Amino acid sequence: MMPEAILVLTHTDEAGSSLTKSSLETVTAGKTLADRLETPLVIGILATDSNAAAKSLPGLNARILGVSGEAFEKPQYAADVAACEALCNAAQATVILAPQSSRMARVAAGLAHRISGSIDTHITSIQGDEAIEVTRWLYRQRIEATITRSVRPWILLIEGGVCAAYEGHEGEGELEQVAVELPELRTNVIGTRAPAHSGQTIRPDAKMLFVAGAGWTKKQADGQVHAGEAGELILSFLQKTSASLGSSKSLVDQGGDGQPVLPFLSHMNQVGQTGATPRHPKGLATCCHGEEPHVVGWRFITERRAISLDPNCGWARGKADVVYIADAFKVIAKVNELLALKA
Ligand SMILES: Cc1cc2nc3c(=O)[nH]c(=O)nc-3n(C[C@H](O)[C@H](O)[C@H](O)COP(=O)(O)OP(=O)(O)OC[C@H]3O[C@@H](n4cnc5c(N)ncnc54)[C@H](O)[C@@H]3O)c2cc1C
Repeated sequence: MMPEAILVLTHTDEAGSSLTKSSLETVTAGKTLADRLETPLVIGILATDSNAAAKSLPGLNARILGVSGEAFEKPQYAADVAACEALCNAAQATVILAPQSSRMARVAAGLAHRISGSIDTHITSIQGDEAIEVTRWLYRQRIEATITRSVRPWILLIEGGVCAAYEGHEGEGELEQVAVELPELRTNVIGTRAPAHSGQTIRPDAKMLFVAGAGWTKKQADGQVHAGEAGELILSFLQKTSASLGSSKSLVDQGGDGQPVLPFLSHMNQVGQTGATPRHPKGLATCCHGEEPHVVGWRFITERRAISLDPNCGWARGKADVVYIADAFKVIAKVNELLALKA
Protein backbone atom coordinates (compact mmCIF):
# COMPACT_ATOMS: atom_id res chain seq x y z
CA MET A 1 0.00 0.00 0.00
CA MET A 2 1.27 3.49 -0.89
CA PRO A 3 2.12 5.57 2.18
CA GLU A 4 -0.43 8.27 2.87
CA ALA A 5 0.44 11.99 2.83
CA ILE A 6 -1.89 14.15 4.96
CA LEU A 7 -2.87 17.74 4.19
CA VAL A 8 -5.09 19.83 6.47
CA LEU A 9 -6.73 22.84 4.80
CA THR A 10 -7.41 25.71 7.20
CA HIS A 11 -8.64 29.30 7.01
CA THR A 12 -8.99 32.44 9.07
CA ASP A 13 -12.29 34.06 9.94
CA GLU A 14 -13.29 37.32 8.28
CA ALA A 15 -12.55 39.43 11.29
CA GLY A 16 -9.17 38.22 12.31
CA SER A 17 -5.78 36.98 11.38
CA SER A 18 -5.94 33.77 13.43
CA LEU A 19 -7.22 30.40 12.27
CA THR A 20 -10.83 29.51 13.07
CA LYS A 21 -11.65 27.11 15.92
CA SER A 22 -12.93 24.49 13.47
CA SER A 23 -9.67 24.79 11.51
CA LEU A 24 -7.66 24.16 14.69
CA GLU A 25 -9.89 21.16 15.52
CA THR A 26 -9.13 19.75 12.06
CA VAL A 27 -5.40 20.30 12.66
CA THR A 28 -5.76 18.02 15.73
CA ALA A 29 -7.54 15.42 13.57
CA GLY A 30 -4.75 15.61 10.97
CA LYS A 31 -1.96 15.46 13.57
CA THR A 32 -3.54 12.43 15.26
CA LEU A 33 -3.87 10.64 11.91
CA ALA A 34 -0.34 11.54 10.77
CA ASP A 35 1.12 10.38 14.11
CA ARG A 36 -0.78 7.10 13.90
CA LEU A 37 0.28 6.42 10.30
CA GLU A 38 3.79 7.74 11.00
CA THR A 39 3.53 9.94 7.94
CA PRO A 40 4.38 13.64 7.46
CA LEU A 41 1.74 16.29 8.07
CA VAL A 42 1.22 19.33 5.83
CA ILE A 43 -0.97 22.29 6.78
CA GLY A 44 -2.42 24.61 4.11
CA ILE A 45 -3.60 28.09 5.12
CA LEU A 46 -5.98 30.43 3.26
CA ALA A 47 -5.68 33.96 4.62
CA THR A 48 -5.11 37.57 3.74
CA ASP A 49 -1.77 37.14 5.53
CA SER A 50 -0.99 33.45 5.99
CA ASN A 51 2.29 34.26 7.79
CA ALA A 52 0.27 35.93 10.55
CA ALA A 53 -2.28 33.07 10.55
CA ALA A 54 0.52 30.49 10.97
CA LYS A 55 1.12 31.95 14.46
CA SER A 56 -1.99 29.97 15.50
CA LEU A 57 0.13 26.80 15.10
CA PRO A 58 3.04 27.15 17.54
CA GLY A 59 5.21 24.08 17.98
CA LEU A 60 3.45 22.02 15.33
CA ASN A 61 5.73 19.52 13.68
CA ALA A 62 4.43 20.01 10.14
CA ARG A 63 5.25 21.58 6.80
CA ILE A 64 3.17 24.75 6.57
CA LEU A 65 2.02 26.09 3.21
CA GLY A 66 0.04 29.28 2.75
CA VAL A 67 -1.74 31.38 0.16
CA SER A 68 -2.04 35.08 0.92
CA GLY A 69 -3.89 38.02 -0.55
CA GLU A 70 -6.91 40.31 -0.30
CA ALA A 71 -8.86 37.81 -2.42
CA PHE A 72 -8.91 35.43 0.58
CA GLU A 73 -10.27 37.88 3.12
CA LYS A 74 -13.88 36.86 2.49
CA PRO A 75 -15.16 33.44 1.41
CA GLN A 76 -15.56 33.46 -2.35
CA TYR A 77 -15.90 30.29 -4.42
CA ALA A 78 -13.63 31.11 -7.37
CA ALA A 79 -10.70 32.36 -5.30
CA ASP A 80 -11.03 29.76 -2.52
CA VAL A 81 -11.24 26.74 -4.82
CA ALA A 82 -8.22 27.94 -6.83
CA ALA A 83 -6.25 28.42 -3.59
CA CYS A 84 -7.21 24.98 -2.25
CA GLU A 85 -6.23 23.39 -5.57
CA ALA A 86 -2.83 25.13 -5.49
CA LEU A 87 -2.27 23.95 -1.89
CA CYS A 88 -3.26 20.36 -2.78
CA ASN A 89 -0.90 20.35 -5.76
CA ALA A 90 1.94 21.75 -3.68
CA ALA A 91 1.38 19.18 -0.90
CA GLN A 92 0.77 16.18 -3.19
CA ALA A 93 -1.42 14.78 -0.44
CA THR A 94 -3.45 11.57 -0.62
CA VAL A 95 -5.78 12.44 2.28
CA ILE A 96 -7.02 16.02 2.64
CA LEU A 97 -8.84 17.09 5.79
CA ALA A 98 -10.78 20.35 6.02
CA PRO A 99 -13.24 21.76 8.57
CA GLN A 100 -16.97 21.34 7.88
CA SER A 101 -17.25 25.15 7.84
CA SER A 102 -19.54 26.94 5.42
CA ARG A 103 -16.44 28.30 3.66
CA MET A 104 -14.91 24.85 3.06
CA ALA A 105 -18.21 23.04 2.50
CA ARG A 106 -18.87 25.44 -0.37
CA VAL A 107 -15.68 24.64 -2.27
CA ALA A 108 -14.76 21.08 -1.25
CA ALA A 109 -16.88 19.20 -3.82
CA GLY A 110 -15.56 21.42 -6.65
CA LEU A 111 -12.05 20.87 -5.33
CA ALA A 112 -12.55 17.07 -5.37
CA HIS A 113 -13.58 17.33 -9.04
CA ARG A 114 -10.58 19.49 -9.93
CA ILE A 115 -8.04 17.13 -8.37
CA SER A 116 -9.90 13.98 -9.57
CA GLY A 117 -10.50 12.85 -6.01
CA SER A 118 -13.40 11.73 -3.81
CA ILE A 119 -15.07 13.53 -0.96
CA ASP A 120 -16.98 12.58 2.20
CA THR A 121 -18.60 15.16 4.44
CA HIS A 122 -19.79 15.47 8.08
CA ILE A 123 -17.06 13.11 9.31
CA THR A 124 -17.23 12.47 13.06
CA SER A 125 -14.17 10.23 13.54
CA ILE A 126 -11.19 8.77 11.72
CA GLN A 127 -10.26 5.22 12.71
CA GLY A 128 -8.85 2.00 11.30
CA ASP A 129 -5.64 0.04 11.78
CA GLU A 130 -4.69 -0.81 8.21
CA ALA A 131 -7.01 1.18 5.93
CA ILE A 132 -8.36 4.58 6.98
CA GLU A 133 -11.97 4.26 8.15
CA VAL A 134 -14.16 7.28 8.81
CA THR A 135 -17.58 7.55 10.43
CA ARG A 136 -20.57 9.80 9.81
CA TRP A 137 -24.22 9.85 10.81
CA LEU A 138 -26.95 9.34 8.22
CA TYR A 139 -30.74 9.52 8.20
CA ARG A 140 -30.96 12.12 10.97
CA GLN A 141 -28.50 10.49 13.34
CA ARG A 142 -30.25 7.13 13.29
CA ILE A 143 -27.55 5.25 11.39
CA GLU A 144 -23.82 5.56 11.89
CA ALA A 145 -21.86 4.56 8.77
CA THR A 146 -18.21 3.53 8.58
CA ILE A 147 -16.70 4.43 5.23
CA THR A 148 -13.43 3.51 3.59
CA ARG A 149 -12.23 4.33 0.07
CA SER A 150 -9.36 3.33 -2.14
CA VAL A 151 -9.64 6.46 -4.33
CA ARG A 152 -6.97 9.10 -3.69
CA PRO A 153 -6.91 12.04 -3.16
CA TRP A 154 -9.67 11.63 -0.58
CA ILE A 155 -11.16 14.81 0.93
CA LEU A 156 -12.77 14.59 4.36
CA LEU A 157 -14.76 17.44 5.91
CA ILE A 158 -14.52 17.10 9.70
CA GLU A 159 -17.52 18.05 11.86
CA GLY A 160 -17.04 20.80 14.43
CA GLY A 161 -16.66 19.71 18.05
CA VAL A 162 -15.38 16.17 17.45
CA CYS A 163 -11.71 17.01 18.20
CA ALA A 164 -10.11 19.43 20.64
CA ALA A 165 -8.73 22.58 18.98
CA TYR A 166 -4.93 22.40 18.46
CA GLU A 167 -3.07 24.27 21.17
CA GLY A 168 0.70 24.43 20.80
CA HIS A 169 3.28 26.18 22.90
CA GLU A 170 6.80 27.14 21.94
CA GLY A 171 8.15 27.55 18.44
CA GLU A 172 7.05 28.87 15.13
CA GLY A 173 7.11 26.89 11.90
CA GLU A 174 8.51 28.27 8.66
CA LEU A 175 5.75 29.06 6.18
CA GLU A 176 6.15 28.45 2.45
CA GLN A 177 4.05 30.78 0.31
CA VAL A 178 2.26 29.06 -2.57
CA ALA A 179 1.45 31.08 -5.68
CA VAL A 180 -2.14 30.94 -6.94
CA GLU A 181 -3.28 31.94 -10.38
CA LEU A 182 -6.69 33.46 -9.78
CA PRO A 183 -9.35 33.42 -12.46
CA GLU A 184 -11.29 36.58 -13.25
CA LEU A 185 -13.34 37.21 -10.06
CA ARG A 186 -16.87 38.11 -11.09
CA THR A 187 -18.39 38.13 -7.61
CA ASN A 188 -17.83 41.01 -5.25
CA VAL A 189 -18.65 40.06 -1.65
CA ILE A 190 -19.96 43.23 -0.01
CA GLY A 191 -20.84 41.85 3.42
CA THR A 192 -22.88 39.41 5.45
CA ARG A 193 -26.40 39.89 6.71
CA ALA A 194 -27.00 38.13 10.01
CA PRO A 195 -29.60 38.53 12.74
CA ALA A 196 -28.64 40.87 15.60
CA HIS A 197 -26.74 38.94 18.29
CA SER A 198 -29.57 39.35 20.79
CA GLY A 199 -31.95 37.69 18.32
CA GLN A 200 -29.56 34.81 17.76
CA THR A 201 -30.96 32.03 19.95
CA ILE A 202 -28.99 29.09 18.52
CA ARG A 203 -25.55 29.18 20.13
CA PRO A 204 -23.59 26.01 19.33
CA ASP A 205 -20.76 26.91 21.74
CA ALA A 206 -23.07 27.50 24.74
CA LYS A 207 -22.51 25.39 27.87
CA MET A 208 -26.23 24.74 28.20
CA LEU A 209 -29.16 23.86 25.97
CA PHE A 210 -32.55 25.19 27.11
CA VAL A 211 -35.41 23.32 25.46
CA ALA A 212 -38.87 24.84 25.29
CA GLY A 213 -41.74 22.41 24.77
CA ALA A 214 -45.32 22.90 23.67
CA GLY A 215 -46.52 23.20 27.28
CA TRP A 216 -45.40 26.85 27.31
CA THR A 217 -48.22 27.75 24.93
CA LYS A 218 -50.89 25.34 26.27
CA LYS A 219 -53.76 26.34 28.59
CA GLN A 220 -52.50 26.57 32.15
CA ALA A 221 -54.23 25.87 35.49
CA ASP A 222 -56.30 29.08 35.18
CA GLY A 223 -57.70 27.90 31.82
CA GLN A 224 -55.78 30.60 29.93
CA VAL A 225 -52.86 30.58 27.49
CA HIS A 226 -49.88 32.69 28.62
CA ALA A 227 -47.74 32.70 25.46
CA GLY A 228 -46.59 36.32 25.95
CA GLU A 229 -45.38 35.66 29.49
CA ALA A 230 -43.74 32.41 28.34
CA GLY A 231 -41.79 34.31 25.66
CA GLU A 232 -40.58 36.90 28.16
CA LEU A 233 -39.50 34.28 30.73
CA ILE A 234 -37.60 32.25 28.12
CA LEU A 235 -35.84 35.23 26.53
CA SER A 236 -34.89 36.63 29.92
CA PHE A 237 -33.43 33.24 30.94
CA LEU A 238 -31.46 33.00 27.68
CA GLN A 239 -30.15 36.52 28.04
CA LYS A 240 -28.99 35.87 31.63
CA THR A 241 -27.40 32.47 30.99
CA SER A 242 -26.27 32.72 27.31
CA ALA A 243 -27.82 29.25 26.87
CA SER A 244 -28.76 28.01 23.41
CA LEU A 245 -32.47 27.63 22.67
CA GLY A 246 -33.85 24.32 21.45
CA SER A 247 -37.46 23.37 20.93
CA SER A 248 -39.72 20.36 20.54
CA LYS A 249 -41.30 19.73 17.17
CA SER A 250 -44.78 20.31 18.56
CA LEU A 251 -43.93 23.85 19.62
CA VAL A 252 -42.29 24.94 16.36
CA ASP A 253 -45.06 23.31 14.30
CA GLN A 254 -47.75 25.32 16.07
CA GLY A 255 -47.29 28.43 13.94
CA GLY A 256 -48.47 26.51 10.89
CA ASP A 257 -51.46 25.17 12.84
CA GLY A 258 -52.63 28.67 13.78
CA GLN A 259 -51.99 28.09 17.51
CA PRO A 260 -50.17 30.50 19.87
CA VAL A 261 -46.50 30.76 18.97
CA LEU A 262 -43.26 32.08 20.40
CA PRO A 263 -42.12 34.50 17.68
CA PHE A 264 -38.38 33.93 18.18
CA LEU A 265 -38.60 30.17 17.48
CA SER A 266 -38.23 28.53 14.08
CA HIS A 267 -37.68 25.00 12.79
CA MET A 268 -33.96 25.71 13.11
CA ASN A 269 -34.42 25.39 16.88
CA GLN A 270 -36.01 21.93 16.68
CA VAL A 271 -34.11 19.19 18.49
CA GLY A 272 -34.80 15.53 17.79
CA GLN A 273 -35.15 12.80 15.24
CA THR A 274 -36.22 15.20 12.51
CA GLY A 275 -34.33 18.14 13.99
CA ALA A 276 -30.87 18.89 15.30
CA THR A 277 -28.56 16.86 17.56
CA PRO A 278 -26.71 19.66 19.35
CA ARG A 279 -23.62 19.19 21.52
CA HIS A 280 -23.79 21.00 24.85
CA PRO A 281 -22.51 19.64 28.16
CA LYS A 282 -25.84 20.33 29.92
CA GLY A 283 -29.50 20.42 28.94
CA LEU A 284 -32.67 21.68 30.64
CA ALA A 285 -36.03 20.69 29.14
CA THR A 286 -39.07 22.73 30.13
CA CYS A 287 -42.77 22.10 29.40
CA CYS A 288 -41.69 19.24 27.16
CA HIS A 289 -42.90 15.66 27.45
CA GLY A 290 -39.60 13.94 26.59
CA GLU A 291 -40.91 11.57 23.92
CA GLU A 292 -38.37 9.38 22.19
CA PRO A 293 -38.38 11.25 18.81
CA HIS A 294 -37.44 14.39 20.74
CA VAL A 295 -34.96 12.83 23.17
CA VAL A 296 -32.87 11.12 20.43
CA GLY A 297 -31.69 14.67 19.64
CA TRP A 298 -30.13 14.76 23.14
CA ARG A 299 -27.68 11.95 22.24
CA PHE A 300 -24.61 14.10 22.96
CA ILE A 301 -25.99 15.94 26.02
CA THR A 302 -24.68 14.27 29.13
CA GLU A 303 -26.17 16.16 32.10
CA ARG A 304 -29.95 16.35 31.73
CA ARG A 305 -32.61 18.10 33.81
CA ALA A 306 -36.30 18.57 33.04
CA ILE A 307 -39.19 20.56 34.48
CA SER A 308 -42.59 19.07 33.76
CA LEU A 309 -46.00 18.95 35.43
CA ASP A 310 -46.37 15.31 34.43
CA PRO A 311 -44.72 12.77 36.78
CA ASN A 312 -45.18 10.15 34.05
CA CYS A 313 -43.43 12.11 31.30
CA GLY A 314 -40.61 10.55 29.26
CA TRP A 315 -37.94 12.44 31.21
CA ALA A 316 -39.12 10.78 34.44
CA ARG A 317 -38.74 7.38 32.79
CA GLY A 318 -34.97 7.39 32.73
CA LYS A 319 -34.31 10.05 30.07
CA ALA A 320 -33.15 12.76 32.48
CA ASP A 321 -30.91 12.68 35.58
CA VAL A 322 -33.26 14.88 37.59
CA VAL A 323 -36.90 15.79 36.86
CA TYR A 324 -38.57 18.63 38.75
CA ILE A 325 -42.32 17.98 38.85
CA ALA A 326 -43.28 21.62 38.94
CA ASP A 327 -44.80 24.51 37.04
CA ALA A 328 -42.05 25.78 34.69
CA PHE A 329 -43.60 29.28 34.68
CA LYS A 330 -42.99 29.53 38.43
CA VAL A 331 -39.59 27.81 38.41
CA ILE A 332 -38.12 29.89 35.56
CA ALA A 333 -39.51 33.13 37.02
CA LYS A 334 -37.76 32.30 40.32
CA VAL A 335 -34.53 31.26 38.58
CA ASN A 336 -34.53 34.52 36.57
CA GLU A 337 -35.03 36.45 39.80
CA LEU A 338 -32.04 34.71 41.41
CA LEU A 339 -29.90 35.19 38.29
CA ALA A 340 -30.74 38.92 38.29
CA LEU A 341 -29.57 39.17 41.93
CA LYS A 342 -26.32 37.42 41.03
CA ALA A 343 -25.58 39.74 38.07
C1 LIG B 1 -41.59 10.66 12.65
C2 LIG B 1 -41.61 11.60 13.81
C3 LIG B 1 -40.55 12.47 13.99
C4 LIG B 1 -40.55 13.37 15.06
N1 LIG B 1 -39.47 14.18 15.23
C5 LIG B 1 -39.43 14.99 16.31
C6 LIG B 1 -38.31 15.84 16.56
O1 LIG B 1 -37.36 15.88 15.78
N2 LIG B 1 -38.32 16.63 17.66
C7 LIG B 1 -39.38 16.65 18.54
O2 LIG B 1 -39.34 17.39 19.52
N3 LIG B 1 -40.44 15.87 18.32
C8 LIG B 1 -40.50 15.06 17.23
N4 LIG B 1 -41.62 14.29 17.02
C9 LIG B 1 -42.79 14.52 17.87
C10 LIG B 1 -42.67 13.88 19.25
O3 LIG B 1 -43.10 12.54 19.17
C11 LIG B 1 -43.59 14.62 20.24
O4 LIG B 1 -44.88 14.71 19.70
C12 LIG B 1 -43.11 16.04 20.59
O5 LIG B 1 -41.74 16.01 20.99
C13 LIG B 1 -43.96 16.57 21.73
O6 LIG B 1 -43.57 17.87 22.03
P1 LIG B 1 -43.76 18.45 23.50
O7 LIG B 1 -43.21 17.49 24.47
O8 LIG B 1 -43.23 19.84 23.50
O9 LIG B 1 -45.34 18.60 23.61
P2 LIG B 1 -46.42 17.82 24.46
O10 LIG B 1 -46.38 16.36 24.21
O11 LIG B 1 -47.71 18.54 24.24
O12 LIG B 1 -45.95 18.02 25.97
C14 LIG B 1 -46.05 19.22 26.65
C15 LIG B 1 -45.61 18.96 28.08
O13 LIG B 1 -45.60 20.19 28.77
C16 LIG B 1 -46.01 19.94 30.10
N5 LIG B 1 -46.46 21.21 30.68
C17 LIG B 1 -47.53 21.98 30.33
N6 LIG B 1 -47.57 23.10 31.09
C18 LIG B 1 -46.49 23.04 31.91
C19 LIG B 1 -46.00 23.89 32.94
N7 LIG B 1 -46.59 25.04 33.26
N8 LIG B 1 -44.86 23.52 33.58
C20 LIG B 1 -44.22 22.34 33.27
N9 LIG B 1 -44.67 21.49 32.33
C21 LIG B 1 -45.80 21.83 31.67
C22 LIG B 1 -47.12 18.90 29.96
O14 LIG B 1 -47.29 18.19 31.17
C23 LIG B 1 -46.55 18.01 28.84
O15 LIG B 1 -45.78 16.96 29.40
C24 LIG B 1 -41.65 13.39 15.95
C25 LIG B 1 -42.71 12.51 15.78
C26 LIG B 1 -42.70 11.63 14.71
C27 LIG B 1 -43.87 10.70 14.55
